[in-house]
Amino acid sequence: MNTCVSPERLSRETEAELSTPSLAKPSRDEAEAAVRTLLRWAGDDPDREGLLGTPDRVARAYEEFFAGYDADPIDMLSRTFEETDGYDEMVLLRDIDFQSHCEHHMVPIIGVAHVAYIPKSRVVGISKLARIVEAFAKRLQIQERFTMQIANSINDVLQPIGVGVVIEAQHQCMTTRGVNKPGVAMVTSCMLGTFREDPATRSEFLSAVGR
Ligand SMILES: [Zn+2]
Repeated sequence: MNTCVSPERLSRETEAELSTPSLAKPSRDEAEAAVRTLLRWAGDDPDREGLLGTPDRVARAYEEFFAGYDADPIDMLSRTFEETDGYDEMVLLRDIDFQSHCEHHMVPIIGVAHVAYIPKSRVVGISKLARIVEAFAKRLQIQERFTMQIANSINDVLQPIGVGVVIEAQHQCMTTRGVNKPGVAMVTSCMLGTFREDPATRSEFLSAVGR
């Protein structure tokens, strides 16, 4: 399993990656018209009864699928940390389910994330770790960047001794089309600080998540 790129490079990339796109949003009508175009492109008739409500439903589904563009993970973490009171062992949240969408085909990426860190002076509630995963999942993603964004945001805000993130996911662009390989999972990891430097910490983490 490969680790991600160097922490120095990651920190620089984090800022750009975390910023919300500032492009002007099309109107709801424009979005629905685009769905009608895609229905025609698929070969169907957007005016038949079963499809009349589809553009509206797709637009609303997009609001859920891509709610992460309105979330600010850094702010989410910054507002909630507490002092550790001396706790300096690994904090691990395992098997965080997520649904994301691949940015190349706009079809689902479904999987689990395992997120761990060793605090230096700050800890967050474990629900916050799950919300960070959610905030980055609800965007168009590639799994490698998704993995790094989670690790970098925790690293930047909590400034822990180390962070480890492992993601296992199925990409429907691979399982339902293209090479058509159902059951194939992609595994990515990002190790920072002691998770990168200390083999014992890394293996404690990996064995805890069953890798
Ligand atoms: Zn894809």
